[in-house]
Amino acid sequence: MAIFSRTRLLSSVVRIAGSESLSFNSRLKSIAKIVNESFDAESTTIYILDEERRYLSEKIPHESADEVRACCIPVGEGGAGSCAARKAVLHTAKKDLHADETAEGSGRNMLCLPIPPGKKICGVVSLALRDDVYPDAEDVEVLQDVSAVLGSLIQGRNITERSNKRVQNLMILNELGKIINKPIPFKILPSYILKACHRVANSCCTVMRIVGYGDFSPGIRKRCRRKFHADLASFLELESQYSAKTLSTGMPFLATDIIAGEEFPPSCISVPLRYESRVTGTLTFFGKLTEDGGFRNFDEEDRELFESMAATIAAALEVAVNNRQAELLAAENARKIRELSLLYKISNAMHSTIRLNDLICLALDAVVSGDAPIFERAMLFLVNERAGVIQGMLGVNAETSRGVIRTAEEGGNMMSARWEISGEDLEKQQNSEFSHRVKESRLPLDKNLNLSSTAVIEKKLIHVIDVTREKRIDQELVDRFGITEFAAVPLMVKDEAVGLVIVDNHLTKKNITRDDLRFLQLLLNQAGIAIENSMLYSRIEDANRDFREVQQRLIQGEKLAAIGEMAASIAHELKGPLVSIGGFARRLEQRAAPDSTEWKYAYTIAREVDRLEKMLTDTLFFSKKATITCSPCNINAIISESMAILAGSFEERNIKVKLRSHPGVGTFYGDFLQLKQVFINLFANASEAMKNGGTLYVTVAPARLDGADALYVKILDTGGGIPLEILNNIFNPFFTTKESGTGLGLPISHRIVANHGGKILVYNRIGVGAQFKVILPIHPKTPRA
Ligand code: ADP
Repeated sequence: MAIFSRTRLLSSVVRIAGSESLSFNSRLKSIAKIVNESFDAESTTIYILDEERRYLSEKIPHESADEVRACCIPVGEGGAGSCAARKAVLHTAKKDLHADETAEGSGRNMLCLPIPPGKKICGVVSLALRDDVYPDAEDVEVLQDVSAVLGSLIQGRNITERSNKRVQNLMILNELGKIINKPIPFKILPSYILKACHRVANSCCTVMRIVGYGDFSPGIRKRCRRKFHADLASFLELESQYSAKTLSTGMPFLATDIIAGEEFPPSCISVPLRYESRVTGTLTFFGKLTEDGGFRNFDEEDRELFESMAATIAAALEVAVNNRQAELLAAENARKIRELSLLYKISNAMHSTIRLNDLICLALDAVVSGDAPIFERAMLFLVNERAGVIQGMLGVNAETSRGVIRTAEEGGNMMSARWEISGEDLEKQQNSEFSHRVKESRLPLDKNLNLSSTAVIEKKLIHVIDVTREKRIDQELVDRFGITEFAAVPLMVKDEAVGLVIVDNHLTKKNITRDDLRFLQLLLNQAGIAIENSMLYSRIEDANRDFREVQQRLIQGEKLAAIGEMAASIAHELKGPLVSIGGFARRLEQRAAPDSTEWKYAYTIAREVDRLEKMLTDTLFFSKKATITCSPCNINAIISESMAILAGSFEERNIKVKLRSHPGVGTFYGDFLQLKQVFINLFANASEAMKNGGTLYVTVAPARLDGADALYVKILDTGGGIPLEILNNIFNPFFTTKESGTGLGLPISHRIVANHGGKILVYNRIGVGAQFKVILPIHPKTPRA
């Protein structure tokens, strides 16, 4: 039947196959055409197998236009399908053909040959024969040669396509790598990666599942093209099945033809997100969309691509987790260094002052100052156990603490800032509006009423996250300061809660963290130690002062003793002659004619001698070791007898007396006569201070002295007070500012009161008057000699 030259046919076929000016399709079509002509066939069609070798999916009839036509002839069905299945030349009847097969003309027979001849076929060439044509062995041999050329041509195209696809996949991976290696915030990284995968994979729906890993929250993230939103529930259901398989095996899972439906993507690939041996999640793709808007099954190459993508993503996630951990560690370290430096700085500052006010201010300022203050407000309350309250003392916020810690000078850095508090700063802070509001606050010290009291009573930190959810809240405090979340920390000094610090972030409502509270606790511990030191220091100072006073008094006492001895001996010597002079003067006074010059001289001598005698008596009393004889006596009686003696002088000087005696005060134990002397002295001094008139207020009331029952007598005059420069000397013997004074009234009074175990206190109001307060115990312990 050969009506052609075999050599010519083969050389034409080879030439067409090698012609670079023709497209792949044109070459196949031309070869089909030349074969058709050479064998005088009714039609010749070339079929191409798909990649999975399951269908003949493309066909090129000899007389078609240039393009390849899609077909779907399962391997094993029809003439071409059966030829592909057997991989051998097949003579068949036209009636057995598959619907997608092309067979022109009226002939009944078909000849199908595998392309290329052999086991690894990539297509089939099929000829529709006239009934009068029957190809012989030589024809078949020629056709097999043609099929070998076609095989090289199709395989060459397949290799090119595959390598193009590989290049494309590499480009996809490269693009994905570039995208996910950008500095993306940790939190949005998974969603960002998913978006990139969805785009480059060209899938209908992509689901990323992360199992608890690093700081990534476990769960799924999905992206679905709008067209498939209605199928999302089905995708997710399938995803949970497939990803479970992938997670358990650690292997990719490819499912094809999952649902028979034209509108549903036919295949799905689930690949593990694996870094080293750890599987941290899965990526599942549904698709795949083709360029013409249809779908096709994912193939092995897609699986390989997705696996590579998953490996890149898993590595990126691992890097992100590691970076995140490194960042957190670095931040934690930076925070710790900052905290320690701050603590060091604060404790240095606190230990450089012993003034309690400074210390408290420094401690509170430290928590609200600087570029990143730990809290926005801090309030100090002091515990008043006797009154059963916690009393507001000081409130600081970022605004009032400015200036105390001079950050501005050193570029706003807390660490290099100079920490000091000037008196002016302190005053400003204490008088701020916020501080005033704190000072007006009082919380009952009762843990059943408010949680702040619990902090004090149980000596522990209290953190209230939401005041509306807490019953034991001091509502007044909450309303006054607009508190929503707060912490209350006791200020401990020597294991005692002496105060309470309440902190909050009222403006930004920033949550109070455990780290913030830990730092506050550390800081207040330091403050507690510094306050304890300060208290110890001031106690040492007090003891020192007392010691110096006692020392002074001893020296003074020694001096006085010497003076006293000398005065006593002089007084003793003078007393004898004075008595004689006085006696003679009085006799002369009686003998001389009244109002004569002699009488006047004698009278003057007698009065002056009286005065000198009194002075000598006082001097002797003072220098003697006086003893007291206690017996029950009434203070009101002592006062009225003393006043009676001075009544004349009060009247003369126009002095009003206002006596007020507390009804419960009266009897006590004392030396009536000596105490009378005390009040005579004090009333006489007051009278002399009010030469031009005034009012003498005398008050008698109960008192406590050294923990025992006592009474006091307050003598207040309106004589203008004691000049400041002499105030320290008024109790010194012989100190007087008066012409006829002895300077012994107050020292003697002081001695008598001290012998009773009592005290005389002076409150001087310059320009107004002096007030002497005599405190006497009801039962003097041991009457002193
Ligand atoms: P004298 O009264 O003899 O001066 P005192 O010891 O009683 O001695 O008082 C000492 C000094 O204290 C007085 O000279 C006087 O300057 C001052 N003084 C005492 N009491 C008062 C008083 N009530 N008002 C003003 N000065 C007073």
